[in-house]
Amino acid sequence: MTSRLESLREEYQALRAQDLSLDLTRGKPSAAQLDLSNALLDIDLGADYRDASGTDLRNYGGTDGVVELREIFAELLGIPVAQLLAAGNASLQLMHDTIVFALLHGLPGGEPWFGQDVAFLCPAPGYDRHFALTQALGIRMIAVPYLADGSLDLAAIEKHLADPAVRGMWLVPMYANPTGSTVDEATARALVAMPAAARDFRIFWDNAYAVHHLSDDEPAPLDILGFAEEAGNPDRVFVFASTSKITQAGSGVSFFGSSPANVAWHKKHTSVQTIGPDKLSHLRHARFFGDAEGVRAHMRKHRELVAPKFAIVDRILTERLSGHATWTKPSGGYFVTLVAPARTASRAVELAKSIGVAITPAGAAFPYGDDPHDSVIRIAPTMPTEAELEAAIEALCVCVLLAEAELEASGR
Ligand code: PMP
Repeated sequence: MTSRLESLREEYQALRAQDLSLDLTRGKPSAAQLDLSNALLDIDLGADYRDASGTDLRNYGGTDGVVELREIFAELLGIPVAQLLAAGNASLQLMHDTIVFALLHGLPGGEPWFGQDVAFLCPAPGYDRHFALTQALGIRMIAVPYLADGSLDLAAIEKHLADPAVRGMWLVPMYANPTGSTVDEATARALVAMPAAARDFRIFWDNAYAVHHLSDDEPAPLDILGFAEEAGNPDRVFVFASTSKITQAGSGVSFFGSSPANVAWHKKHTSVQTIGPDKLSHLRHARFFGDAEGVRAHMRKHRELVAPKFAIVDRILTERLSGHATWTKPSGGYFVTLVAPARTASRAVELAKSIGVAITPAGAAFPYGDDPHDSVIRIAPTMPTEAELEAAIEALCVCVLLAEAELEASGR
């Protein structure tokens, strides 16, 4: 009788013989999703390049961004228009620059962070690029593992905030990358009300997936700036968002929202950097959407393309990995987190790579790449076709099972 390990090895060799070339690494929109916004490319601004107030958007100026577009996203994000800036194509750059401004100039009423011991709390697993950016700017990262039920560990966060070195915290409040979890109102209110030893402590509230619902339930974003004000900490939160995964990822529009004092601070430092953002891109986006309802309708078209892919992932994981692993079933966003047996994730990813299936490196979703249990694998289902996705997830499952069987056989 062949052992389980042998039969999995045979299955694995059969996959190798297929010469696969599949990629589940990055949460990029598929070409079909990008096509949904092709009308953006055809908008003829030649005849009308002015905003509603008649300003010629071809010229310099308008540092806040085009108001028509800010109005649309103010409604979607639940932020007053006056407190929401529209900027360049990448919110990640806004996050980077915000931290650089804090390092070099300090936050309103605070000292520059540069030269001090500065730490950020990093709920983990989290977004790898947040962590790469934090590390590159010399900021210490403190991983805060999620609780078993997937919620934030508020007690641990509160304890860390007693340390004056803790100046920031990353948070993707809706359909988080990669866990898919969403912060509820009680948690949000607790976060903005908690005492913090550092007066300039800020939550980097990265609402990248605020409108990316995968079900009929389309919750509105929490009024986090309002909660912070009510809690007596009006300046605690920086909100970031973008149209990257709404229209065309490489040429969208990013947004920064915060308290009036923080917005004024941000504008002061940005004004040294640029005479204004690409307002023609803002105008194109405003005309393309029309209004907030236009964005919602557009996102339902994304859902039609994306939801079947999440269903494929869940179906195959259920068929192959029930009893061996657990995984998230997100109701929005771009990712599924697979929790493989402890001490198998890096081996499974390595096995997948050597048969032509690229998976995000194990550990990538943790500060310093350090997954304490070596169990988390991030699956990004949007980019491949449905057929490619099926083949990739089938192969990944074999790799996870083989890694587990190898570990058991090794007796370690
Ligand atoms: N934040 C999160 C949580 C993301 O997942 C992504 C994209 N993967 C980004 C920000 C990047 O956004 P942008 O394209 O606006 O820089």
